[in-house]
Amino acid sequence: MFSTPATELITDASGKVTGVIATKEDGSKLKVNAKAVIIATGGFGGNQEMLKEQFGDKYTIGEVASCTGDGIKMAWSAGAAEYGTATAHYFWETFTGEEFGALIGAVGDDFFSLTDFTFYPHLRVNKLGQRYCDETTVTDFATHGAQVHMQPNQTEYLVLDAGILEQIAEKGYVSVEDHFGTFKGNRNFYMEFNEPNDTDELIEKENTPKDYAPLLESALNTGVVFKGNTLEELAQNMGIDGGTFTESVEQYNTAIKSGKDDMFYSDTNRLVPVQKGPFYAVKYVARNLSTLGGVAINEKIEAVDGNGAAIPGLYVAGADAGGMYGKSYVNFEGGTLGFAYTSGRLAGQNAIAYMNK
Ligand SMILES: Cc1cc2nc3c(=O)[nH]c(=O)nc-3n(C[C@H](O)[C@H](O)[C@H](O)COP(=O)(O)OP(=O)(O)OC[C@H]3O[C@@H](n4cnc5c(N)ncnc54)[C@H](O)[C@@H]3O)c2cc1C
Repeated sequence: MFSTPATELITDASGKVTGVIATKEDGSKLKVNAKAVIIATGGFGGNQEMLKEQFGDKYTIGEVASCTGDGIKMAWSAGAAEYGTATAHYFWETFTGEEFGALIGAVGDDFFSLTDFTFYPHLRVNKLGQRYCDETTVTDFATHGAQVHMQPNQTEYLVLDAGILEQIAEKGYVSVEDHFGTFKGNRNFYMEFNEPNDTDELIEKENTPKDYAPLLESALNTGVVFKGNTLEELAQNMGIDGGTFTESVEQYNTAIKSGKDDMFYSDTNRLVPVQKGPFYAVKYVARNLSTLGGVAINEKIEAVDGNGAAIPGLYVAGADAGGMYGKSYVNFEGGTLGFAYTSGRLAGQNAIAYMNK
């Protein structure tokens, strides 16, 4: 039933859930009596107010406008306990809505090529100019998304020098890292970022020389790409502290030269030096897919109160259910859909058993 969101749970005098009230498109109410109710409204990634309440200023809007926490709030109002509410589904990095607009205006569809850099271990710093992660782990997208989320304004800057841009323009990104070589002659198809991927296409892309400098130059006035002939000038244009930034670059380059990264113990052979001007920085924010929690449940997927007692007739599945995750998403794709399918199925089975009692 479309355009008819559930707004209220109906409960009897004993607290048993006996139905829902929904609001129809014309504003009138629809009452649905039921022996059991399963809530699965997908978290609150589309609710700015709730996001701010749970995450303070450290939040980016989820990519799920229709999931506004209705089911979570209904379950709470029926006596369910709050659990795991401040768990976000960070995965990879992206641009803010305003930046998307500015980038499309400046460079058209090619703006998305600016995300190509994110797949490689280039230097990352936060708004304070601090290096804040082992750059070789950035393709653990959930981990890195959560790392970016923890930085001021959920922001990171990725730093490139002219040397690496020239190298990629001449030899392709494969000269930095060969991500797909093992699939040569063994074509594979897989889903990532909800997109179909073809390893033959990825091999071709990584092996094709590309000059990113014109794209970076065209995006200089978007608030996403910054340039400096020196590191100090770059920091100034980024609006960050030049002293801390140059110290971070120094520590990073020294780690590469000495083979010893005292800060993050990274595999320094994989890090990409930042030495030759002009320098560029590209700004990204954490990509928040949605939220993953809110209502305490038990092993039967029943909503439970603060004492762990089940609320009769109420089940909460998928992203509305709390406790499946820690503070962030798991580092394998399919984790949340897997839980949504499984908890939904279990909720259905247990609701039928409850109704047949
Ligand atoms: C861009 C993107 C990519 C993702 N990629 C992956 C991935 O690769 N692997 C993975 O495991 N997970 C992925 N996820 C997460 C996954 O999609 C969710 O965790 C999962 O869909 C949650 O399932 P759910 O049934 O709890 O909620 P949803 O699938 O969000 O469904 C909730 C439904 O409830 C509806 N609803 C909301 N309020 C009401 C109301 N008051 N009354 C009635 N209906 C209501 C919503 O409109 C929605 O249709 C991705 C999410 C996004 C946004």
